[in-house]
Amino acid sequence: MKTTDVIVIGGGLAGFMAAAVAANRQQKVTLLTYGSGSLPLMSGTIDILNAKAPDAAIKNLPAHHPYQKIGLKNIDSAIKFFCDIAAQANLPYVGRLSAQIPVVTAVGTLKYSCLVPESMDASNLINKKKIFVVGIKGLKDFYPSMIADNLKKYFPDKIFDVAQIDLKLLGGRDITCMDAAQILTDNEQTLANELKALNATDNDAIIIPPILGVMGNFSRSVITTQLRADIFETTCLPPSPPGVRLQRAFIKYLQKSGVKIFENSKVVRGVVEDKKVTGVVVENAVREKIFRARKVILATGGFYSGGITMRDFDNPMEPIFDIPVFFPTGAENWSNQQLFSDKPQGFSMTGIFTNDNLNPADENGKILYENLHVVGANLGGCDKIFERSAGGIAISSAYKAATI
Ligand SMILES: Cc1cc2nc3c(=O)[nH]c(=O)nc-3n(C[C@H](O)[C@H](O)[C@H](O)COP(=O)(O)OP(=O)(O)OC[C@H]3O[C@@H](n4cnc5c(N)ncnc54)[C@H](O)[C@@H]3O)c2cc1C
Repeated sequence: MKTTDVIVIGGGLAGFMAAAVAANRQQKVTLLTYGSGSLPLMSGTIDILNAKAPDAAIKNLPAHHPYQKIGLKNIDSAIKFFCDIAAQANLPYVGRLSAQIPVVTAVGTLKYSCLVPESMDASNLINKKKIFVVGIKGLKDFYPSMIADNLKKYFPDKIFDVAQIDLKLLGGRDITCMDAAQILTDNEQTLANELKALNATDNDAIIIPPILGVMGNFSRSVITTQLRADIFETTCLPPSPPGVRLQRAFIKYLQKSGVKIFENSKVVRGVVEDKKVTGVVVENAVREKIFRARKVILATGGFYSGGITMRDFDNPMEPIFDIPVFFPTGAENWSNQQLFSDKPQGFSMTGIFTNDNLNPADENGKILYENLHVVGANLGGCDKIFERSAGGIAISSAYKAATI
């Protein structure tokens, strides 16, 4: 097999972003993955950091934090590149590194994030007089009355109206947002007719679950042109249409850019010569195959996706290259008693430590492979869920690794 420029292992947000950036820089890229990662599960928002002004807060993070190795300039460039890819798939995102945008969650709280699909940007809710919260008959895990009750706490001066519409999506069984979004793609008029019947005006907002199709902003455009009121999508329980839209936007970009994508391809080990990774071994049902490259980006997703495993307590492992994995030792530091506490969870800090080029390091800080770069959820040293940085670390570490 011919040696390619870059192999990316992993088809989640970090792997897709790394492959897209490298391809955009005229590199020949092969992407190997055996699962779809967390994109179809995520809300679609890219959380950079839970701070009013993330750019300022990032400067104060400790030296071992992934963002300190990535650098503000790369984070900013990653955001611009990400928005560009999404826009090319008619999936406009809004936001920037210096501020947060509100999104209505599936329970009616406001969540703040730096990068938000335009369809979820709830900034303009504040300017509305009346808010319709619309449920869909048969749709599970979406409770419009609860959403309205909780939103009243943020907007006590607004009038709320709860509506339930019947789209006759399926006979009998409960449906998910993903089912509804798939059915409504190319069938938007059914929803448009029901929403028009609300008679909402320019001063009103309509809040709905995230069911506006699975292909970018297409279904939303069909509906908004027929309504006077602004329409906002909430987040939902997985599977999540906004995450799937993002996944499709990336796949479209990668295919257009000539990235070779090998699905169902589990990388089982690296090929190492003279402390350099020269290739990786993929195992499928029939045989093993070697893929060779000058550079390898490890985007295998940490604990969530098998990028880091732990058969024995206190012994986490990186299964492909056997890179040392750092974690808080001692069971007492492993977790807080309260799952939803106001402190990071020890187990969530588990991951690989790197130098500024995102090359993996051993326990003494010695760099193991200079042409292997670690990105996304594999990176250790912070609780990405607690500090709400998972998406931001994924896109910015991927951007840096692909541009080195
Ligand atoms: C339920 C849920 C909701 C979330 N919501 C948000 C949110 O709202 N905002 C936000 O910013 N972040 C959110 N996140 C976090 C975010 O989606 C991820 O942490 C982040 O995108 C990390 O992406 P990743 O590419 O590093 O990992 P993943 O998305 O986990 O992708 C890893 C990929 O590597 C593949 N892989 C693993 N091992 C191998 C191997 N040996 N060979 C080949 N392929 C392999 C996996 O199959 C997978 O495709 C959420 C995460 C979850 C689980």
